[in-house]
Amino acid sequence: HDKIARIKEQLKSYPDYPKKGILFWDIFPILQQPEYFRMLKDALVVEAKKISPPVECVAGLEARGFLFGPLISLELNVPFVPIRKKGKLPGNLLSVCYSKEYGQDVLEVQENAIKPGKRVLLVDDLLATGGSLLASYHLVKKAGAQVAASLVIIELEPLKGRDTLPTDVISLIKL
Ligand code: 5GP
Repeated sequence: HDKIARIKEQLKSYPDYPKKGILFWDIFPILQQPEYFRMLKDALVVEAKKISPPVECVAGLEARGFLFGPLISLELNVPFVPIRKKGKLPGNLLSVCYSKEYGQDVLEVQENAIKPGKRVLLVDDLLATGGSLLASYHLVKKAGAQVAASLVIIELEPLKGRDTLPTDVISLIKL
């Protein structure tokens, strides 16, 4: 917990980014310091390994879920699957529409990438309203699999995204 507090100190916040009224939390200072990046990776892996029954697949959300999901999947020795914005993945796809602040967006996953019945861990850097993780939950269901939990580094608690999600939510840092 001391380590989590030290990781938290590395975050940088940017007022009015990407638009006025939004306070953006930048995680990249952590990645620029191998000591902290490793600490963060280890903390995520500890949480992922605690999940029971065990996780059988890790799905990372574009874009920052791609930075951490693969690190976790390798440690668990399970497949990593990317969940991407519309139009970025080849082949047959499953897709889910979801509402964002301005209009609709679509998330996609490759058909057959997530095997039916598997316990999938959803990974992203930050939980805000929960819209992205909720759409990803529906993608996993469409694949015939189950969500073991949603794992994020940062949870913006006042936005209550956790309450909108049908999954367990694990967050390292609450802001
Ligand atoms: P939600 O769908 O929960 O409203 O928003 C979460 C998504 O937006 C995540 O994919 C996350 O990467 C991105 N996001 C929203 N706000 C921030 C922020 O302050 N910092 C970072 N790093 N990502 C954010």
